[in-house]
Amino acid sequence: MKKYYSIAIDGPAGAGKSTIAKKVAKDLGFIYVDTGAMYRAMALYFIRNNISAKDQESIEKACKDVKIVIEYIDGEQGVILNGENVNGLIRTEEVGNMASASSVYPVVRMKLVELQQELAKTENVIMDGRDIGTYVLPNADLKIYLTASTKERAKRRWLELKNKGIDADITAVEKDIIERDQRDMTREFAPLKQAEDAILVDSSNLTIEEVVDRIKEYFNNIKGLI
Ligand code: C5P
Repeated sequence: MKKYYSIAIDGPAGAGKSTIAKKVAKDLGFIYVDTGAMYRAMALYFIRNNISAKDQESIEKACKDVKIVIEYIDGEQGVILNGENVNGLIRTEEVGNMASASSVYPVVRMKLVELQQELAKTENVIMDGRDIGTYVLPNADLKIYLTASTKERAKRRWLELKNKGIDADITAVEKDIIERDQRDMTREFAPLKQAEDAILVDSSNLTIEEVVDRIKEYFNNIKGLI
């Protein structure tokens, strides 16, 4: 059987996981799997159907009506929600907050974990999220826990919003990040935490390129041993 490589990148909100993972994927010729986008697509479905994140019963029922499919178009991941490509609709704060609140439910997670594990069986993947190294791909070849100080993550997130023409309050952005991390780290099922065998990378004082180079170097060192 052909060996497929997998790299797991976990970490809190705004640590730069997707930016870094996309670049590493491009350089190594891997598929980049953005698992947050899947939770966001589910969240969009709940919002559209006026389902509250507190209403576990309705969330569980709704999960039966949701079909998420992942497509790759020119190397870009497309998330298809019941036949509709929702990539352009899931990057809002509203959807992010709903994703964080609804992803605590095992029924939501199990649906997406299965999809994520299937993808890793047939491709070399670099997958980012919160539970990849601890739950989704416990046997990943390389595990990275990418973090940065909350101040730095809030600054990056605020700049990203500013570049999109959104004038946000940096203190409110930081508060939102802290709340989201807290929820992700304390949920009962598959919480965000550093896997025992993950390498900690604090990107507070590193450039994107420095982090990318470091991860590629770790991978190349490990690859020689596999
Ligand atoms: O990474 P992103 O901000 O797109 O993720 C949105 C939310 O989805 C996170 O705040 C987290 O609650 C949830 N998530 C998760 N597990 C993953 C990926 C995302 O619980 N593997």
